[in-house]
Amino acid sequence: MYSDDCIFCQIAQRKIPSDIIYEDDQVVAFKDIQPLAPVHLLVIPKHHLTNVNDVTPDFEGLIGHLFGVMRRLAQEFGVAETGYRVVTNTGADGGQVVGHLHFHLLGGQALEAKIG
Ligand code: 5GP
Ligand code: ZN
Repeated sequence: MYSDDCIFCQIAQRKIPSDIIYEDDQVVAFKDIQPLAPVHLLVIPKHHLTNVNDVTPDFEGLIGHLFGVMRRLAQEFGVAETGYRVVTNTGADGGQVVGHLHFHLLGGQALEAKIG
């Protein structure tokens, strides 16, 4: 389930501190340490998956659950109506720095329309 030397696995296990705002048996959400918007949450599965490339059919239920968590967090953080962005960077060209699947939930301001 967890991978040694993975910073987000350590956050999920509360081995290193972070501002955790939601947790259940499958998912953890915490505030990004370098926020790029007034609301910048990171939502991760507890199970270590490197990125979307690891999301085989076995994990589709988990990802569906994770999106439900994001929907509720968007409501809780007051951005559901104003709008927000969900981003997952994958691999080097995708700009992925941390090798544990994570979804950025960004909102609280008008974000630039461009992608890439
Ligand atoms: P990536 O480029 O991999 O999609 O984004 C990784 C994100 O994780 C970045 O936005 C970065 O600020 C955030 N991050 C990296 N290390 C930590 C940490 O130790 N704690 C928290 N809360 N966020 C982190
Ligand atoms: Zn991990």
